[in-house]
Amino acid sequence: EPALSIRGLTKVYGNGFHALKGIDLDVQQGDFFALLGPNGAGKSTTLGVVCSLVQKTAGKVSVFGIDIDKDFARAKNNLGVVPQEFNFNQFEKVEDIILAQAGYYGMSHREAKPRAAELLKDLGLWDKRDGSARALSGGMKRRLMIARALIHRPKLLILDEPTAGVDIELRRSMWDYMRRINREEGTTIILTTHYLEEAESLCRNIAIINHGEIVKNTSVRELLGQL
Ligand code: ADP
Ligand code: ADP
Repeated sequence: EPALSIRGLTKVYGNGFHALKGIDLDVQQGDFFALLGPNGAGKSTTLGVVCSLVQKTAGKVSVFGIDIDKDFARAKNNLGVVPQEFNFNQFEKVEDIILAQAGYYGMSHREAKPRAAELLKDLGLWDKRDGSARALSGGMKRRLMIARALIHRPKLLILDEPTAGVDIELRRSMWDYMRRINREEGTTIILTTHYLEEAESLCRNIAIINHGEIVKNTSVRELLGQL
């Protein structure tokens, strides 16, 4: 079964705006997938529905075959999400922010502690673990969000514009990290971006969304051949 399957997904916001007009999308296990589109296309809305932050108007969403309407509690254990905005408590300690997320997934402290240490080291945050998140640079905060999303070893990692506003050096190191977990741990990755260059350099498959509709769904290789 696919890591993510979306059928007929429709979202009409409270003001009557049709943000998603019945989209279909499949992302296979192990894929590195880009949802590419300009600002306002419906990328965040799509991801918001998948992680249950946005209530859909119609359609069906399954994560590894689990319908999120029927069993979100089970679906969420396979999901790690990195939203665009920093949504942690800046006054908390870096390590505690990661460990608190483990509680949400029902991981024991004994299990979570070494996993958090591994992520803090891999993401270059080890020296900052005892300080408050407020002291981190923007790039470090972004990496903290990634560490937090990976604490429970999700099979699917979803990142909303992960490198927006990030300088070129950090962007490269984030790309390397994402490639590594996709390749070495088999984590399926979906990211949204409005940079074709990012999709091109990282991803295998791509869907292009515009005005709430999928206008193209193909491999990156094929897309580049057409340009
Ligand atoms: P993207 O992530 O591709 O930039 P979004 O999914 O954030 O696009 O937004 C899609 C469209 O829905 C945009 O036109 C946006 O203004 C609109 N939108 C997003 N959130 C709301 C909301 N809460 N109420 C009304 N319209 C919204
Ligand atoms: P910024 O000024 O963009 O916020 P950071 O403080 O986040 O920069 O980055 C500090 C340094 O850490 C940079 O030199 C960056 O290359 C490096 N770095 C970024 N990502 C990682 C990573 N995954 N592992 C180790 N070091 C990293």
